[in-house]
This record gives sequence, structure tokens and C-alpha cells, in this order.
Amino acid sequence: TSTRELLLSRIRDVADYPKPGVVFKDITPLLADPKAFTALTDALAELCAKHGATKIVGLEARGFILAAPVAVRAGVGFIPVRKAGKLPGATLSQAYELEYGSAEIEVHAEDLDQDDRVLVIDDVLATGGTAEASLELVRRAGAEVVGVAVLMELGFLGGRARLEPALRGAPLEAL
Ligand code: 5GP
Repeated sequence: TSTRELLLSRIRDVADYPKPGVVFKDITPLLADPKAFTALTDALAELCAKHGATKIVGLEARGFILAAPVAVRAGVGFIPVRKAGKLPGATLSQAYELEYGSAEIEVHAEDLDQDDRVLVIDDVLATGGTAEASLELVRRAGAEVVGVAVLMELGFLGGRARLEPALRGAPLEAL
């Protein structure tokens, strides 16, 4: 089977989570399968090399799980983007709109500079708001965005279109 089929077979649909009417894509079966997790890590590490990334930004929380082994495999640094209030050092913050209300994410300001070429990794692109805000953070820190890579894109939510302007020509890769 292809990598795509293997990965798809290890993603579980959970109905009515986190609220009625939503079908949540649960990646824990994939994480529990070493063959699938390794295939995912390899595929993301290839993207890292293809786009010449020198650092990987992982988005809390599932993005951390995917991005950390990729950083090790690719031999580049791992930088966490966290929900507001979790990082101990001096941070840059970026607020963004959710369906109801807003959220805020942060990065350590000293973790990125103008020499860095950054690949942003998360598990799922839904509305694109989280990824969009992360690109703002990376650029405000002075670094270059070389791409966004996700396991899965929920096409019907239109995240790709929302993210498009913030990508400024950088690729959005959905495995
Ligand atoms: P967005 O900002 O694109 O609307 O939401 C993306 C964020 O929400 C990602 O960090 C992702 O982890 C999480 N997310 C939204 N929907 C799902 C889903 O169905 N499955 C998983 N695993 N994460 C989701």
C-alpha cells in the first residue's frame, strides 16, 4: 500500500467530538502504529529537505508530536509555538479569530532569526486560522517561511484559501 493509504487507514473518525455535528479526525491510532508513524515522519522529513528548512516550528499540541521526530530525523532545530502563557521566556504573541471567540499563540522571540528557513508542521489544517497566525509569528520573529506541512487538510473548511495570502507563495503540503 502507498504511504497515503497507510496513513489514511490509521486515522479514526470520531463522531460528535468535541461537539455535536463535528467529526473529529483522531490521529492516535497512527501514533500507536510504528510503521505508520515512521512513514509519516519520513515523509515530513523529506519535505523538510525538499524545501531547505533549517528549523521546524511545531504547533501545540499534536503538532509537537509530529514535528519533534521530524526535526531529529532531518537534523534541524525544533521550535514550539504554544498557546498563550506557557512559554517562560520573552515571547512574541499573535491573536487570531476562532469560530466563537479568539485564541492566542506564542513563540520564544530568541528562537528564530533572519537566517532561519522555517517549515511549520501541524497534524490537521481545519479553518487555517492556527497556521495563519503561526506564519505571522515566524515572520515577525524575522525568519523566512519555506512551507506549511500537515498530515491532513479538511478541504471542506476552506483552510487552504484562508491561508493562501499568508503563505506568500510558500507551499502548503498536505500528506
Ligand atoms: P484551524 O485553526 O485550522 O481551524 O484548526 C487547526 C487546529 O485545530 C490544529 O492545531 C489541529 O490540531 C486542531 N484540529 C481541528 N480539527 C481537528 C480534527 O478533526 N482532528 C485533529 N486531530 N485536530 C484538529
